[in-house]
Amino acid sequence: MNHYDYIIVGSGIAGLYIALLAIKQGSVLILTKGSIEDCNTKYAQGGIAVAMGKDDSPELHFKDTMAAGDGLCDAAAVRILTEEGAECIADLIKFGVPFDTLDGEITLTREAAHTTPRIIHAGGDATGEHIEISLSQKVRSVPIKVLEDCLASEILIEGNRVKGVKALDCRTGLMEEYGCQFLILATGGTGRLFKYTTNSDVVTGDGIALAFEAGAEISDMEFFQFHPTVLRLPGVAPFLISEAVRGEGGILENVDGYRFMPDYTAEAELAPRDIVARSIVYEMRKTGSDRVFLDVTHLPPRLITTRFPHIYRFCRDHGLDITKGLIPVAPAAHYLMGGVKTNTWGETNISGLFAAGETACTGVHGANRLASNSLLESVVFGKRVVERTTSPCHSEEDIPSCHREEQVSQSPEQSEGDEAISYSLPDRHPLSHVPPLNLPNLQSLMWDKVGIIRSGESLAKAASILATWQRSLPQSIDRPSYELNNLVLCARLITEAALLREESRGAHFRTDFPETSSAWQRHIVFKT
Ligand SMILES: Cc1cc2nc3c(=O)[nH]c(=O)nc-3n(C[C@H](O)[C@H](O)[C@H](O)COP(=O)(O)OP(=O)(O)OC[C@H]3O[C@@H](n4cnc5c(N)ncnc54)[C@H](O)[C@@H]3O)c2cc1C
Repeated sequence: MNHYDYIIVGSGIAGLYIALLAIKQGSVLILTKGSIEDCNTKYAQGGIAVAMGKDDSPELHFKDTMAAGDGLCDAAAVRILTEEGAECIADLIKFGVPFDTLDGEITLTREAAHTTPRIIHAGGDATGEHIEISLSQKVRSVPIKVLEDCLASEILIEGNRVKGVKALDCRTGLMEEYGCQFLILATGGTGRLFKYTTNSDVVTGDGIALAFEAGAEISDMEFFQFHPTVLRLPGVAPFLISEAVRGEGGILENVDGYRFMPDYTAEAELAPRDIVARSIVYEMRKTGSDRVFLDVTHLPPRLITTRFPHIYRFCRDHGLDITKGLIPVAPAAHYLMGGVKTNTWGETNISGLFAAGETACTGVHGANRLASNSLLESVVFGKRVVERTTSPCHSEEDIPSCHREEQVSQSPEQSEGDEAISYSLPDRHPLSHVPPLNLPNLQSLMWDKVGIIRSGESLAKAASILATWQRSLPQSIDRPSYELNNLVLCARLITEAALLREESRGAHFRTDFPETSSAWQRHIVFKT
């Protein structure tokens, strides 16, 4: 078995950034199931939130993040997120990411639910593409081994310690085992679970499914963020219209030309994502339409073409000049707040197993992510993973608990929703008639019954269908079958958590429990 100090699964921002730091400490292998650049990272538009502006501070960023998280953020983790960002941005610049500048200063823009401009970007609205290209070029220039088309299929454990990973070569169909000291899951979220999604095809919850099966704790899965404004043009794949467009003054109107957001909230278009997404759904229902419109025609055309060149060009290439015409939009699945539970060093409850990026649940997002905090989370906690692996603590057998003690003494600040309740996935009575299991049926089920607006009834129905499907999963033999099986497991974790949480909070909204309940200011954790 080939052995490495670090094996990193995934080649988005989290995987590549960690690899570039880890190579200074030991040998590194990256496994990625598509090409190196297949990931969500390259689609990120708005940018990275970081308190660098004159009128900004980590304290203000902390407050905005805590407010968005709706009572479930881990305050110690949010402190770290908001205080340690600038150092990681300096690393990204060193690795070649060309952030936009004006007169030698990095330019900052504002996004919804941020009290001040603090989003740094690259190529206007092509931030993720620049990050992915710069980091992957840098990775190729150093002795990091990268295996593309290589799908991690099982975590190898001995006792409570990681020994390596099993992976499928998707080109040859051969299975191989790789040994390591540290295994870092950077496999992204589960966005392909839903019929309408902004996510890349590779985002199928693999890391969460593998970690769960290996005995790791999975937390906060009921909190899935739906982006309010995704292009809804017939025959065109969902394309994100960045939050920053509303940040720069874009206005939402229903199909009758009425500006509806002020009717729902005083923050209007700058309200948090969940509020804007739900308001749009209500407005679409009211008007019997499958879309609303985003209007930027009152903004100077030059601002639009220079600040949003990517969006401008994409729409123009599909016959829409957004400087003159309205942009048809509707919500779509976007970001998973939950994931593999980690402490503030990216450690899971299994020694040697780490998670970073969207796969991880570090506790910074709580019930709802503040826009542009996820790229920041990937680098801030990615850096801490590598720092942790070089700490003397690692000579000890029980790394996670060793760290937890330290974490408590380091963070006197009281976290919100400290309490976590552990559950196993329940055995449900199988239904005699269910639709056949395939990706479109799974995506429709999740969109219709576990989507933006949920109810106990819709969730219970979905839970039974999913449990029935899980009893007769196809054998995993190739990438599509592995992905489908992983998605079904993630769908169960999301649905069962949403059913347990009898309240509405952040991105989780139930019509039968529309209020937030203090009794539910706690986390739902699943473990095998
Ligand atoms: C359209 C869009 C716009 C966004 N805009 C922003 C923004 O402006 N600011 C912001 O902060 N966030 C934004 N986000 C969110 C952000 O882009 C993601 O949360 C972040 O890029 C996740 O990075 P990651 O490295 O964790 O995962 P990803 O970039 O998704 O990478 C996951 C990697 O894991 C690999 N992988 C998965 N499973 C396996 C397996 N079994 N074996 C091997 N490899 C595997 C994939 O192939 C991929 O390389 C946006 C997301 C989308 C979709």
